[in-house]
Amino acid sequence: MMTGVGSPVPIVLDAHQHVDVRRVGAGEDDALHLLQADFEARMAMMSRENIAATVLMPSYDYDKRFGTFSTQRVLDALSQYQSWDAERIRWLGLTVEPQYGKSAVRQLEDALNTGVFKVVSWHNRYQGLSVDHPIMFEFVALAGQHNCVVYLHGTNSDHEELWRIGPLVRAFPEVRFVVVDALMVGSHTPIIMDLMTDVGNIWVDTAGATTFVNAVRAVGETAGWDKLLFGSDVYDSGRGGSPMIVRHLLDVCGLDTDAMRKVCGENLVALMEGSPVKSA
Ligand SMILES: [Zn+2]
Repeated sequence: MMTGVGSPVPIVLDAHQHVDVRRVGAGEDDALHLLQADFEARMAMMSRENIAATVLMPSYDYDKRFGTFSTQRVLDALSQYQSWDAERIRWLGLTVEPQYGKSAVRQLEDALNTGVFKVVSWHNRYQGLSVDHPIMFEFVALAGQHNCVVYLHGTNSDHEELWRIGPLVRAFPEVRFVVVDALMVGSHTPIIMDLMTDVGNIWVDTAGATTFVNAVRAVGETAGWDKLLFGSDVYDSGRGGSPMIVRHLLDVCGLDTDAMRKVCGENLVALMEGSPVKSA
């Protein structure tokens, strides 16, 4: 298979996909049917794009009218989704709602005890409380105890500004954090690069970097190519990012073979199979 620019399509492990669970949270009758259709479409897309496996997280704007019961429906749906092809949906990510406080902490602990979830994730601007709210520190402490990887969306919009993320990351130097969408706004890229060079436990992905393409190269050269992940931010054909665009982005940045191999998969495997970060 060839890309539009004529270069071979390398096999990719995608660090950043979401499944739209908007109708799952309220237990709508068609929710399972929609998820199955999503799965079929995702498998076809991944084959077409030569994506061997992915991290899959929920959407964060699901119907939450039943509180933690809505969240539980989403957690159960994610587990079921992965069971359809655990090899390709290789790393499953969850979320719990910061606004539910201690109930959400208990829910997170129960979910992590199932052993199904490797990733815990938040997109705080959809979730009503900021990434530096005290409850987030409780979540991350639990995630660390289970050797999970913590995904935070760092779009610099409300509740998830990079300056709020810094203290959380610094409080848990042994926990591995992936700050996705961090390269979405060019003027904020220096903030994440400063943070990455200051701490040893942050990875970023390519999602959102399409406007400021050269931020990818800048991060790789500053923080190291080991810390950059191929992230498409795909939801489905109508929402989110595109792996094809990320490939073009990497082409434009002119990565050498070694860096390309790392970004397109080796870094993600090392991250997911890794141990807590040892302090220097
Ligand atoms: Zn995302």
